[in-house]
Amino acid sequence: MTSLVPAAAGLATVLGVLTSLLSPAAPTGPAAQADWADPSTTPRVASVLVVSVDGLNPRALRRLGRSRAPHLHRLVDESAGTLNARTQVEMTLTLPNHTGMVTGRRISRDLGGHGVTWNDDRRTPSTVQRAAGERVGSVFSTVADHGGSTALFASKKKFSLWTRSWSDDLDLVVIDGDNRSLVRSLVSDVRSRDRAFRFLHLSAPDVAGHAHGFMREAYLRAVRSTDRLLGRVLAAVERGPAGAAAVPTAVVLTADHGGTPGKGHAEHARAANYRVPFLVRAPGVSAGADLYDLNDDYADPGHGRPAYDDARQPIRNGMVANVSLGLLGLPPVPGSQLGVTPLDLVAP
Ligand SMILES: [Zn+2]
Repeated sequence: MTSLVPAAAGLATVLGVLTSLLSPAAPTGPAAQADWADPSTTPRVASVLVVSVDGLNPRALRRLGRSRAPHLHRLVDESAGTLNARTQVEMTLTLPNHTGMVTGRRISRDLGGHGVTWNDDRRTPSTVQRAAGERVGSVFSTVADHGGSTALFASKKKFSLWTRSWSDDLDLVVIDGDNRSLVRSLVSDVRSRDRAFRFLHLSAPDVAGHAHGFMREAYLRAVRSTDRLLGRVLAAVERGPAGAAAVPTAVVLTADHGGTPGKGHAEHARAANYRVPFLVRAPGVSAGADLYDLNDDYADPGHGRPAYDDARQPIRNGMVANVSLGLLGLPPVPGSQLGVTPLDLVAP
């Protein structure tokens, strides 16, 4: 299931995102039409914030309970979502899975994926395009093509791969290993200006998981501290820019991978590693609805790990790019594979 909207990208470059909200560039052809999110099922917003919590095993929410993770629980209550989404199939590693999130592609180059199979700071291949051996678009490039502003706030240096890959499409990049100061940067950005798309990556649970074991006490403390940071982020998004009304903003929260109690997260066939949350909160989205109830084309995988060619797919973290673009009223990333058909976010 791949689809491109070749005509639309050029067509709408002159439109700002707010303008395109009022008069979205007309998709051309029946295929394009099918892929263009229907506002009655994908509410339109002016801004999307993606929050990826590195190594967030959804079971941590249950372990901590509402009192110790109030903001994550509130986000679950207010989102259409699932705590039983899946990573990409091939790997459960930070850089490969995050690159899948922003490109909407699988990982393996042989499967049409982005080809980023490493998970360190190496500078060769220097870009995602070189890894894939072809032009690779991203949520950043599609938003930028349509006149929207983008920003990346990441807490691991390896994300500089994205800066090199989409240098013209990222208006602001902050890479800061200190999650608190990273969130301060994000909050100050949200308070100072409108942007169509922001991506925030928080590393604390993963770092604690590697040092002390996933789901252990230190890890759960890191999820708690991440929850407090999420509270600041949500408050900033709800207030909007200082002195101006908040624009309708969607928050999409997911994780690159989970983590196995007491161990790491590299074994991609383990449920604790491939199970991730996927939450979408936006004005008009059915609060508390299960994405699998809303979307018959997708099926709750239970404990399973469906392959890409299984008839009914799980919600995957790699759908972040196209879900975000649908909310902004923009077409899918050219060449993307995951979430190309817009998700239904509104209960009938
Ligand atoms: Zn890790």
